[in-house]
Amino acid sequence: METPVQERTPVERQMFTARISRSILLSLQTKHLELSVEGMDEFRFVPGQFVSIKQPRPDGKEHTRAYSIASPPRQNATFDLCLNRVEEGFLSNWLCDLPEGATVQFHGPHGLFTLREPRKDAVFIATGTGIAPIRGIIHWLFEKPERNRGHEYWLVFGTRYDHSLYYRDEFERIARDNPNFHYVPTLSRCGELWTGCRGYVQDHVREIVAGRSDLQAYICGLHQMVDANRKLLKEDLGWDRKQIVFERYD
Ligand SMILES: Cc1cc2nc3c(=O)[nH]c(=O)nc-3n(C[C@H](O)[C@H](O)[C@H](O)COP(=O)(O)OP(=O)(O)OC[C@H]3O[C@@H](n4cnc5c(N)ncnc54)[C@H](O)[C@@H]3O)c2cc1C
Repeated sequence: METPVQERTPVERQMFTARISRSILLSLQTKHLELSVEGMDEFRFVPGQFVSIKQPRPDGKEHTRAYSIASPPRQNATFDLCLNRVEEGFLSNWLCDLPEGATVQFHGPHGLFTLREPRKDAVFIATGTGIAPIRGIIHWLFEKPERNRGHEYWLVFGTRYDHSLYYRDEFERIARDNPNFHYVPTLSRCGELWTGCRGYVQDHVREIVAGRSDLQAYICGLHQMVDANRKLLKEDLGWDRKQIVFERYD
């Protein structure tokens, strides 16, 4: 019997316009953008969520891409993004080239890369612009003592060189002010002068979580890194899948 083909109606999403108020180069291929949503007093979201930015290509085809919100919710309608240029890509390069004052169309917030309740000690694991949602979450956690009291948090942030340790000053300041926040930057191609951790994030995650089966992990970045860390935690260390929250960018 022939099954009736249901016509798909496209989901109508409410679109918003945001204006870029600041555009800062974090490294040769990475930008930090600060945006303000037009016609809104407050833009509400849960730390770690993303927005979907829409833009037609020159051929007229509309493209939508996800970008994590790199800031905590504020009592106004501003939010930050942290994004990379993508070789042969369209939307990320288009966004990176926009001048201050330009506008973008987006829908959202969306996503479940957010803190799980009840809150546990946690390790945040990121490489590259995977730091974006984690920056928002960590700022939110350490804005008020009651949000982090009684818990230990680690941030293992991996990149090739020290000049791409995005937001390093902010994380070092939070670590100085809060003995329960441990910032663990690790470089895979560092020079001799680097005295911090070396190698891949999973090498250090293994050490941090050794002997602890009660932690939560939040992992964000490209799929190779995310999968390597999930494998370590689940298969090698026997964690339950609910202990691991992740967002893959590719
Ligand atoms: C939930 C979510 C949140 C995201 N948040 C961020 C963010 O905060 N910052 C950020 O920089 N990116 C983020 N990304 C990734 C971002 O959406 C992609 O970089 C984007 O899809 C690339 O779109 P494009 O139009 O520029 O390139 P496309 O034209 O779609 O792709 C061009 C080529 O690049 C490859 N490619 C696609 N994505 C990546 C990537 N991330 N890295 C390297 N190569 C890639 C593709 O395989 C393709 O070959 C997020 C992705 C998801 C799913």
